[in-house]
Amino acid sequence: MEVDDLTKDLDRQQALLEELHKLVDRPMRLMVVCGTQNRAILKYGIRQKLPTMLELVAGPGCSVCVMPAGHIDAFIKIAKQLKVITAACEDLIRVPGSNQSLATVWKKGARIEVISSPMDALDIARREPDFTVVYPAVGFEATAPSVAETILEAARLGINNFCVIPSIRLLPPTIDLLMLDPDLNIQGLLCSDHINTISDTKAYTELAKKHDLSCYIAGFEVVDILAGILSLVKQIRNGESLFDDHSAFVYSSADNRKARKMVSEVFFAVDTDWRGLGTIERSGFVIREELSLFDATKRFNVRFEEGLESCMCQCSAIISGRGLPPDCPAFGLACTPKNPVGPCMISDEGICHSYYKYNLQASRLIL
Ligand code: SF4
Repeated sequence: MEVDDLTKDLDRQQALLEELHKLVDRPMRLMVVCGTQNRAILKYGIRQKLPTMLELVAGPGCSVCVMPAGHIDAFIKIAKQLKVITAACEDLIRVPGSNQSLATVWKKGARIEVISSPMDALDIARREPDFTVVYPAVGFEATAPSVAETILEAARLGINNFCVIPSIRLLPPTIDLLMLDPDLNIQGLLCSDHINTISDTKAYTELAKKHDLSCYIAGFEVVDILAGILSLVKQIRNGESLFDDHSAFVYSSADNRKARKMVSEVFFAVDTDWRGLGTIERSGFVIREELSLFDATKRFNVRFEEGLESCMCQCSAIISGRGLPPDCPAFGLACTPKNPVGPCMISDEGICHSYYKYNLQASRLIL
Protein backbone atom coordinates (compact mmCIF):
# COMPACT_ATOMS: atom_id res chain seq x y z
CA MET A 1 0.00 0.00 0.00
CA GLU A 2 1.36 3.46 -0.88
CA VAL A 3 1.63 6.28 1.69
CA ASP A 4 -1.42 8.13 0.29
CA ASP A 5 -3.52 4.98 0.39
CA LEU A 6 -2.34 4.19 3.89
CA THR A 7 -3.33 7.67 5.08
CA LYS A 8 -6.75 7.33 3.44
CA ASP A 9 -7.17 3.91 5.03
CA LEU A 10 -6.30 5.25 8.51
CA ASP A 11 -8.67 8.20 8.02
CA ARG A 12 -11.45 5.82 7.04
CA GLN A 13 -10.75 3.60 10.08
CA GLN A 14 -10.90 6.66 12.32
CA ALA A 15 -14.17 7.84 10.76
CA LEU A 16 -15.75 4.40 11.17
CA LEU A 17 -14.65 4.22 14.81
CA GLU A 18 -16.01 7.70 15.53
CA GLU A 19 -19.36 6.78 14.03
CA LEU A 20 -19.45 3.58 16.06
CA HIS A 21 -18.78 5.51 19.26
CA LYS A 22 -21.68 7.82 18.41
CA LEU A 23 -24.14 5.06 17.55
CA VAL A 24 -23.54 2.43 20.22
CA ASP A 25 -25.82 3.72 22.95
CA ARG A 26 -26.87 0.38 24.51
CA PRO A 27 -25.27 -3.06 25.09
CA MET A 28 -24.88 -4.97 21.83
CA ARG A 29 -23.43 -8.44 21.36
CA LEU A 30 -22.00 -9.58 18.03
CA MET A 31 -20.57 -12.95 17.04
CA VAL A 32 -17.51 -12.90 14.78
CA VAL A 33 -17.92 -16.30 13.19
CA CYS A 34 -14.68 -16.59 11.21
CA GLY A 35 -11.30 -17.40 12.77
CA THR A 36 -9.41 -15.26 10.23
CA GLN A 37 -11.49 -12.20 11.10
CA ASN A 38 -11.07 -12.87 14.82
CA ARG A 39 -7.31 -12.99 14.26
CA ALA A 40 -7.38 -9.65 12.38
CA ILE A 41 -9.47 -8.07 15.16
CA LEU A 42 -6.90 -9.10 17.76
CA LYS A 43 -3.85 -8.43 15.60
CA TYR A 44 -4.87 -4.85 14.83
CA GLY A 45 -6.22 -4.09 18.32
CA ILE A 46 -9.74 -3.41 17.00
CA ARG A 47 -11.38 -4.82 20.13
CA GLN A 48 -9.73 -2.20 22.38
CA LYS A 49 -10.86 0.66 20.15
CA LEU A 50 -14.54 -0.27 20.11
CA PRO A 51 -17.17 1.26 22.42
CA THR A 52 -17.29 -0.61 25.71
CA MET A 53 -20.99 -1.46 25.28
CA LEU A 54 -20.19 -3.35 22.08
CA GLU A 55 -19.21 -6.92 22.91
CA LEU A 56 -17.58 -9.25 20.37
CA VAL A 57 -17.60 -13.00 20.93
CA ALA A 58 -16.08 -15.74 18.79
CA GLY A 59 -18.00 -18.30 16.77
CA PRO A 60 -17.33 -21.82 15.49
CA GLY A 61 -15.50 -20.62 12.35
CA CYS A 62 -12.12 -22.32 12.75
CA SER A 63 -12.30 -25.72 11.07
CA VAL A 64 -9.43 -27.24 13.05
CA CYS A 65 -10.91 -26.03 16.37
CA VAL A 66 -14.22 -27.83 15.79
CA MET A 67 -12.64 -31.16 14.84
CA PRO A 68 -13.75 -33.73 17.43
CA ALA A 69 -11.26 -36.13 19.00
CA GLY A 70 -13.13 -39.10 17.48
CA HIS A 71 -12.41 -37.84 13.95
CA ILE A 72 -8.72 -37.33 14.75
CA ASP A 73 -8.67 -40.90 16.13
CA ALA A 74 -10.01 -42.14 12.77
CA PHE A 75 -7.37 -40.15 10.87
CA ILE A 76 -4.70 -41.73 13.10
CA LYS A 77 -6.06 -45.26 12.68
CA ILE A 78 -5.77 -44.92 8.90
CA ALA A 79 -2.37 -43.15 9.04
CA LYS A 80 -0.94 -46.12 10.96
CA GLN A 81 -1.77 -48.62 8.20
CA LEU A 82 1.04 -50.01 6.10
CA LYS A 83 1.63 -48.47 2.70
CA VAL A 84 -0.40 -45.36 3.53
CA ILE A 85 0.66 -41.74 3.13
CA THR A 86 -1.51 -39.22 4.99
CA ALA A 87 -1.42 -35.84 3.24
CA ALA A 88 -2.73 -33.21 5.65
CA CYS A 89 -2.56 -29.49 6.40
CA GLU A 90 -0.01 -28.47 9.04
CA ASP A 91 -2.45 -27.31 11.74
CA LEU A 92 -4.42 -30.53 11.65
CA ILE A 93 -1.34 -32.64 12.37
CA ARG A 94 -1.04 -31.22 15.90
CA VAL A 95 -4.70 -31.47 16.91
CA PRO A 96 -5.11 -33.93 19.80
CA GLY A 97 -7.27 -37.01 19.42
CA SER A 98 -8.21 -39.12 22.45
CA ASN A 99 -4.60 -40.12 23.24
CA GLN A 100 -2.36 -38.84 20.48
CA SER A 101 -2.17 -36.67 17.39
CA LEU A 102 -1.08 -37.28 13.81
CA ALA A 103 2.23 -35.64 14.86
CA THR A 104 2.74 -38.37 17.48
CA VAL A 105 2.29 -41.22 15.02
CA TRP A 106 4.43 -39.35 12.47
CA LYS A 107 7.30 -39.41 14.99
CA LYS A 108 6.72 -43.14 15.44
CA GLY A 109 7.11 -43.82 11.72
CA ALA A 110 3.74 -43.22 10.05
CA ARG A 111 4.21 -41.50 6.71
CA ILE A 112 2.71 -38.01 6.78
CA GLU A 113 3.14 -35.25 4.21
CA VAL A 114 2.25 -31.61 4.87
CA ILE A 115 0.25 -30.14 1.99
CA SER A 116 -1.82 -27.05 1.36
CA SER A 117 -4.52 -28.27 -1.04
CA PRO A 118 -6.32 -31.49 -1.97
CA MET A 119 -4.75 -31.38 -5.45
CA ASP A 120 -1.32 -31.62 -3.72
CA ALA A 121 -2.48 -34.93 -2.25
CA LEU A 122 -3.53 -36.16 -5.69
CA ASP A 123 -0.09 -35.22 -7.04
CA ILE A 124 1.54 -37.33 -4.32
CA ALA A 125 -0.71 -40.25 -5.32
CA ARG A 126 0.50 -39.90 -8.92
CA ARG A 127 4.15 -39.91 -7.78
CA GLU A 128 3.76 -42.76 -5.29
CA PRO A 129 1.76 -45.51 -7.01
CA ASP A 130 2.80 -48.12 -4.41
CA PHE A 131 1.09 -46.20 -1.58
CA THR A 132 -2.49 -45.23 -0.87
CA VAL A 133 -2.59 -41.47 -0.34
CA VAL A 134 -5.23 -40.39 2.17
CA TYR A 135 -6.45 -36.80 2.44
CA PRO A 136 -8.35 -35.85 5.62
CA ALA A 137 -10.74 -33.25 4.19
CA VAL A 138 -11.21 -30.74 6.99
CA GLY A 139 -12.88 -27.37 6.50
CA PHE A 140 -16.22 -25.66 6.05
CA GLU A 141 -18.56 -25.62 3.07
CA ALA A 142 -16.22 -23.27 1.21
CA THR A 143 -13.62 -26.06 0.94
CA ALA A 144 -16.10 -28.59 -0.46
CA PRO A 145 -15.81 -27.55 -4.16
CA SER A 146 -12.02 -28.06 -4.26
CA VAL A 147 -12.27 -31.45 -2.52
CA ALA A 148 -15.11 -32.50 -4.84
CA GLU A 149 -13.11 -31.38 -7.86
CA THR A 150 -10.09 -33.44 -6.72
CA ILE A 151 -12.19 -36.57 -6.20
CA LEU A 152 -13.80 -36.16 -9.63
CA GLU A 153 -10.36 -35.62 -11.18
CA ALA A 154 -9.02 -38.79 -9.50
CA ALA A 155 -12.04 -40.71 -10.84
CA ARG A 156 -11.58 -39.27 -14.34
CA LEU A 157 -7.87 -40.13 -14.43
CA GLY A 158 -8.33 -43.51 -12.75
CA ILE A 159 -5.98 -42.61 -9.86
CA ASN A 160 -7.27 -45.28 -7.51
CA ASN A 161 -4.54 -45.01 -4.88
CA PHE A 162 -6.08 -41.73 -3.67
CA CYS A 163 -8.90 -41.35 -1.16
CA VAL A 164 -10.43 -38.80 1.19
CA ILE A 165 -11.60 -38.92 4.80
CA PRO A 166 -14.70 -36.71 4.60
CA SER A 167 -14.79 -34.38 7.59
CA ILE A 168 -16.19 -31.18 6.06
CA ARG A 169 -18.59 -29.19 8.23
CA LEU A 170 -21.43 -26.84 7.36
CA LEU A 171 -21.73 -23.68 9.43
CA PRO A 172 -25.40 -22.64 8.98
CA PRO A 173 -26.95 -25.61 10.90
CA THR A 174 -24.50 -25.04 13.76
CA ILE A 175 -25.11 -21.30 13.95
CA ASP A 176 -28.85 -22.08 13.82
CA LEU A 177 -28.50 -24.38 16.83
CA LEU A 178 -26.38 -21.90 18.81
CA MET A 179 -28.84 -19.08 18.19
CA LEU A 180 -31.65 -21.11 19.79
CA ASP A 181 -30.00 -20.49 23.17
CA PRO A 182 -31.65 -17.29 24.47
CA ASP A 183 -28.86 -16.77 27.02
CA LEU A 184 -26.39 -16.26 24.20
CA ASN A 185 -28.25 -13.11 23.21
CA ILE A 186 -26.39 -12.53 19.93
CA GLN A 187 -27.85 -9.68 17.90
CA GLY A 188 -25.52 -9.70 14.91
CA LEU A 189 -23.28 -12.06 12.96
CA LEU A 190 -20.13 -10.91 11.21
CA CYS A 191 -19.26 -13.53 8.60
CA SER A 192 -16.38 -13.69 6.17
CA ASP A 193 -15.94 -13.96 2.43
CA HIS A 194 -15.16 -17.64 2.98
CA ILE A 195 -18.83 -18.52 3.27
CA ASN A 196 -19.53 -16.98 -0.07
CA THR A 197 -17.50 -19.39 -2.12
CA ILE A 198 -20.50 -21.50 -2.95
CA SER A 199 -22.75 -18.55 -2.38
CA ASP A 200 -24.77 -20.00 0.47
CA THR A 201 -26.42 -16.66 1.00
CA LYS A 202 -29.90 -18.22 1.17
CA ALA A 203 -29.01 -20.11 4.35
CA TYR A 204 -27.75 -16.92 6.01
CA THR A 205 -30.78 -14.91 4.89
CA GLU A 206 -32.98 -17.55 6.54
CA LEU A 207 -30.86 -17.48 9.71
CA ALA A 208 -31.22 -13.70 9.88
CA LYS A 209 -35.01 -13.94 9.56
CA LYS A 210 -35.47 -16.88 11.90
CA HIS A 211 -33.40 -15.49 14.76
CA ASP A 212 -33.93 -11.74 14.29
CA LEU A 213 -30.28 -11.38 13.50
CA SER A 214 -28.35 -8.83 11.55
CA CYS A 215 -25.80 -10.52 9.27
CA TYR A 216 -22.96 -9.01 7.31
CA ILE A 217 -20.34 -10.59 5.06
CA ALA A 218 -17.07 -8.68 5.13
CA GLY A 219 -13.50 -9.09 3.95
CA PHE A 220 -10.46 -9.31 6.22
CA GLU A 221 -9.00 -5.79 6.19
CA VAL A 222 -9.48 -3.54 9.23
CA VAL A 223 -11.68 -1.17 7.23
CA ASP A 224 -13.84 -4.06 5.96
CA ILE A 225 -14.31 -5.39 9.48
CA LEU A 226 -15.13 -1.98 10.96
CA ALA A 227 -17.58 -1.25 8.13
CA GLY A 228 -19.21 -4.62 8.84
CA ILE A 229 -19.50 -3.91 12.55
CA LEU A 230 -20.93 -0.46 11.82
CA SER A 231 -23.54 -1.91 9.46
CA LEU A 232 -24.54 -4.45 12.13
CA VAL A 233 -24.85 -1.71 14.74
CA LYS A 234 -27.06 0.35 12.39
CA GLN A 235 -29.27 -2.67 11.67
CA ILE A 236 -29.64 -3.41 15.39
CA ARG A 237 -30.58 0.20 16.13
CA ASN A 238 -33.16 0.10 13.31
CA GLY A 239 -34.54 -3.26 14.46
CA GLU A 240 -33.61 -4.87 11.12
CA SER A 241 -32.75 -8.53 10.45
CA LEU A 242 -30.97 -8.36 7.15
CA PHE A 243 -28.32 -10.27 5.31
CA ASP A 244 -25.90 -7.71 4.00
CA ASP A 245 -23.32 -9.07 1.56
CA HIS A 246 -20.20 -6.99 1.01
CA SER A 247 -17.99 -9.82 -0.08
CA ALA A 248 -14.78 -8.70 -1.72
CA PHE A 249 -15.00 -11.69 -4.08
CA VAL A 250 -17.55 -11.73 -6.80
CA TYR A 251 -18.20 -15.20 -8.13
CA SER A 252 -19.86 -15.47 -11.48
CA SER A 253 -23.07 -17.45 -11.53
CA ALA A 254 -21.36 -19.91 -13.90
CA ASP A 255 -18.61 -20.52 -11.29
CA ASN A 256 -21.21 -20.95 -8.58
CA ARG A 257 -23.25 -23.36 -10.66
CA LYS A 258 -20.13 -25.40 -11.44
CA ALA A 259 -19.08 -25.48 -7.77
CA ARG A 260 -22.55 -26.50 -6.60
CA LYS A 261 -22.80 -29.20 -9.27
CA MET A 262 -19.45 -30.73 -8.27
CA VAL A 263 -20.37 -30.65 -4.58
CA SER A 264 -23.73 -32.34 -5.15
CA GLU A 265 -22.17 -34.96 -7.44
CA VAL A 266 -19.70 -35.97 -4.73
CA PHE A 267 -21.27 -35.25 -1.31
CA PHE A 268 -24.48 -35.34 0.63
CA ALA A 269 -25.24 -33.86 4.07
CA VAL A 270 -25.47 -36.00 7.21
CA ASP A 271 -25.56 -35.45 10.99
CA THR A 272 -22.00 -34.77 12.15
CA ASP A 273 -20.06 -34.39 15.41
CA TRP A 274 -18.45 -31.09 16.35
CA ARG A 275 -15.83 -30.77 19.08
CA GLY A 276 -17.56 -29.68 22.24
CA LEU A 277 -20.89 -29.07 20.51
CA GLY A 278 -22.11 -32.65 20.01
CA THR A 279 -23.86 -34.08 16.97
CA ILE A 280 -25.58 -31.48 14.81
CA GLU A 281 -28.23 -32.38 12.25
CA ARG A 282 -27.12 -32.28 8.60
CA SER A 283 -24.00 -30.32 9.46
CA GLY A 284 -21.40 -32.35 7.56
CA PHE A 285 -20.71 -33.97 4.21
CA VAL A 286 -20.04 -37.61 3.33
CA ILE A 287 -19.09 -39.07 -0.05
CA ARG A 288 -21.79 -40.59 -2.24
CA GLU A 289 -21.92 -44.37 -2.67
CA GLU A 290 -21.04 -44.15 -6.40
CA LEU A 291 -17.65 -42.67 -5.44
CA SER A 292 -17.02 -44.92 -2.41
CA LEU A 293 -13.69 -46.03 -3.89
CA PHE A 294 -12.45 -42.57 -2.91
CA ASP A 295 -13.89 -42.70 0.61
CA ALA A 296 -11.07 -43.71 2.99
CA THR A 297 -13.50 -44.63 5.80
CA LYS A 298 -15.02 -47.30 3.52
CA ARG A 299 -11.74 -48.42 2.01
CA PHE A 300 -10.18 -48.97 5.45
CA ASN A 301 -13.44 -49.86 7.20
CA VAL A 302 -12.96 -47.17 9.84
CA ARG A 303 -15.85 -45.42 11.63
CA PHE A 304 -15.91 -42.10 13.42
CA GLU A 305 -16.38 -43.00 17.07
CA GLU A 306 -16.80 -40.87 20.15
CA GLY A 307 -13.39 -39.74 21.40
CA LEU A 308 -12.09 -38.39 24.68
CA GLU A 309 -11.52 -34.65 24.90
CA SER A 310 -9.47 -32.91 27.61
CA CYS A 311 -11.85 -31.91 30.38
CA MET A 312 -9.54 -28.96 31.15
CA CYS A 313 -10.21 -27.38 27.76
CA GLN A 314 -13.00 -24.79 27.49
CA CYS A 315 -12.93 -24.62 23.66
CA SER A 316 -16.59 -25.57 23.37
CA ALA A 317 -17.66 -22.52 25.42
CA ILE A 318 -15.29 -20.24 23.54
CA ILE A 319 -16.29 -21.28 19.99
CA SER A 320 -19.94 -20.94 20.89
CA GLY A 321 -19.70 -17.36 22.16
CA ARG A 322 -20.10 -18.31 25.83
CA GLY A 323 -16.70 -17.12 26.95
CA LEU A 324 -13.36 -15.71 25.89
CA PRO A 325 -9.96 -17.42 26.12
CA PRO A 326 -8.93 -15.68 29.39
CA ASP A 327 -11.98 -17.35 31.01
CA CYS A 328 -10.22 -20.71 30.60
CA PRO A 329 -8.04 -21.51 33.66
CA ALA A 330 -5.43 -23.14 31.40
CA PHE A 331 -5.04 -20.12 29.09
CA GLY A 332 -1.43 -18.91 28.96
CA LEU A 333 -0.43 -21.26 31.79
CA ALA A 334 -0.93 -24.97 31.09
CA CYS A 335 -1.99 -24.11 27.53
CA THR A 336 0.24 -22.08 25.21
CA PRO A 337 1.03 -22.32 21.48
CA LYS A 338 4.16 -24.34 22.38
CA ASN A 339 2.22 -26.72 24.61
CA PRO A 340 -1.38 -26.56 23.40
CA VAL A 341 -4.03 -28.42 25.37
CA GLY A 342 -6.89 -27.79 22.96
CA PRO A 343 -7.23 -27.12 19.22
CA CYS A 344 -8.14 -23.43 19.68
CA MET A 345 -4.52 -22.88 20.76
CA ILE A 346 -3.04 -24.81 17.83
CA SER A 347 -4.38 -23.28 14.69
CA ASP A 348 -3.31 -19.78 13.60
CA GLU A 349 -7.04 -19.15 13.27
CA GLY A 350 -7.85 -20.52 16.71
CA ILE A 351 -9.22 -17.81 18.99
CA CYS A 352 -7.00 -18.87 21.95
CA HIS A 353 -3.91 -18.79 19.72
CA SER A 354 -4.78 -15.31 18.42
CA TYR A 355 -5.61 -14.07 21.91
CA TYR A 356 -2.31 -15.41 23.24
CA LYS A 357 -0.26 -14.04 20.36
CA TYR A 358 -1.74 -10.57 20.12
CA ASN A 359 -3.39 -9.81 23.45
CA LEU A 360 -1.57 -11.66 26.20
CA GLN A 361 1.92 -11.16 24.83
CA ALA A 362 1.20 -7.50 24.08
CA SER A 363 -0.06 -6.89 27.62
CA ARG A 364 3.00 -8.66 29.05
CA LEU A 365 5.27 -6.46 26.95
CA ILE A 366 3.49 -3.34 28.22
CA LEU A 367 3.83 -4.50 31.83
S1 SF4 B 1 -6.74 -21.93 26.42
FE1 SF4 B 1 -6.26 -24.01 25.72
S2 SF4 B 1 -7.33 -25.35 27.11
FE2 SF4 B 1 -8.26 -23.33 27.30
S3 SF4 B 1 -9.95 -23.28 25.83
FE3 SF4 B 1 -8.18 -22.47 24.77
S4 SF4 B 1 -7.28 -24.25 23.75
FE4 SF4 B 1 -8.68 -25.06 25.31
